[in-house]
Amino acid sequence: MTDYLLEISKNKTARNLVGSLGLPIPLPQALERLRGPALEKPLSGRRVAFTVAEGGVLGSVLETTIAGLGADVVVAGTAAGDAKLHGLVLDATGISSPAGLRALYDFFHATVKQLGRCGRVVVLGRPVGGQLVAGAAAQAALEGFIKSTAKEIGRSGSTANLIRVASGAEDRVAGPLRFFLSPASAFVSAQAVEVSTKAAGTVTGEWTRPLSGKVAVVTGAARGIGAATARILAGEGAQVVCIDRPADEAVTQELSIAIGGTAFALDVATPEAGPRLAAFLKERFGGVDIVVHNAGITRDKTLARMSEEAWDQVLNINLAALLRITEALLDGTLRDGGRIVCLSSIAGIAGNVGQTNYAASKAGVIGFVRGLAVELAPRGIAVNAVAPGFIETRMTATVPFAIREAGRRLAALGQGGQPEDVGRAIAFLSSPGALGLSGNVLRVCGGALLGA
Ligand code: NAP
Repeated sequence: MTDYLLEISKNKTARNLVGSLGLPIPLPQALERLRGPALEKPLSGRRVAFTVAEGGVLGSVLETTIAGLGADVVVAGTAAGDAKLHGLVLDATGISSPAGLRALYDFFHATVKQLGRCGRVVVLGRPVGGQLVAGAAAQAALEGFIKSTAKEIGRSGSTANLIRVASGAEDRVAGPLRFFLSPASAFVSAQAVEVSTKAAGTVTGEWTRPLSGKVAVVTGAARGIGAATARILAGEGAQVVCIDRPADEAVTQELSIAIGGTAFALDVATPEAGPRLAAFLKERFGGVDIVVHNAGITRDKTLARMSEEAWDQVLNINLAALLRITEALLDGTLRDGGRIVCLSSIAGIAGNVGQTNYAASKAGVIGFVRGLAVELAPRGIAVNAVAPGFIETRMTATVPFAIREAGRRLAALGQGGQPEDVGRAIAFLSSPGALGLSGNVLRVCGGALLGA
């Protein structure tokens, strides 16, 4: 479905003309996205400024990671002149009182005007809890700061995110920091993730083709987010098994041939789906490393009008099938050090009229991920959810015009996302460098107002 405001904004003359009309909503900025596989140095030739607030512990990690991305590292205070900056990074791990929050103002007030289009703001803090109350208050404040900053800079296509780093997990920060600073996170804004030592293992810094040698399964791969994810995982080196309903076998075959993967026709909602998939993966590949539970449906109706079938089908496909299939793959098919990524939705966080069944299933996915992350942590298997906001797919093309426009414009970035944006987030969570993230729900929503 074409987004006309976004199309207009790509033409400079039209952009100036529409801008002069003083519309109540700004024209969205076309986002800079990653095309092709992840690069070792995606920020070559860019400048990134960083500073460490008093007591912060991540200075050397930040410097090494930013330089490793190919960017010129600008130490705060030396960003003289008005030369554009691609990124602004603050280590706020040492902030332990409200007074310490002044470091946010001092750094960002001085530099935010220099942030270029599609720039990045990243703040690194500590998880809230386990510290003195003044520290808990200060660390919680970081989230409000990030969310507001995301709204202020979103109209220029820029994002702001918070990485909370648990004590002892400092050596797991590089992967998430690279993701949030790079074009791979184009549609991820106003989010807070937690990096922890939960999942056992050691992070390895493989930034290009990080999924080489891995076997990945993507359900619902015939179209939309699933197809985009399968393509991206394959581009990052994975052997991808594309699953969709038997009725979609031809489309799934075509995709799997194009990406050098394998098609497997399977209705994930059937009771025998899990054992069939486990047997197939064991026989063909000896196991699996990455499982993306993407297949999902909507059957929207307000509760009073909803049929039993609509309730049962949605809960079965979107939630119960994930549990059954995962259980079957835990018979030894899913290898140690693996990754599970489940598709939730902002509807599961915010709720939606006509979606009691869908929102219940997608909120259930979050509970599933949180519980399973703990259970599988000793085996080094990280389990996370992505919660897309408004993504331009067949699913959202059926949404009535006014709701579709609200979905697009009520996000900090003022537009809908592309299936590839979700695929990139899934590829990141599937990578070795994302070991520190487990039990997280990463929203890919452009900083949507809903459920924020
Ligand atoms: P989509 O375009 O409708 O694609 C979903 C795919 O899953 C379809 O090919 C569908 O096949 C398949 N599928 C459904 N039930 C299946 C089953 N029982 N067995 C095997 N395959 C099955 O949807 P999408 O927009 O890409 O969404 C993908 C996921 O993201 C879903 O879980 C959705 O809830 C979630 N999500 C999407 C958005 C969004 O804005 N698009 C927002 C939040 C969350 P059929 O065509 O045969 O049904």
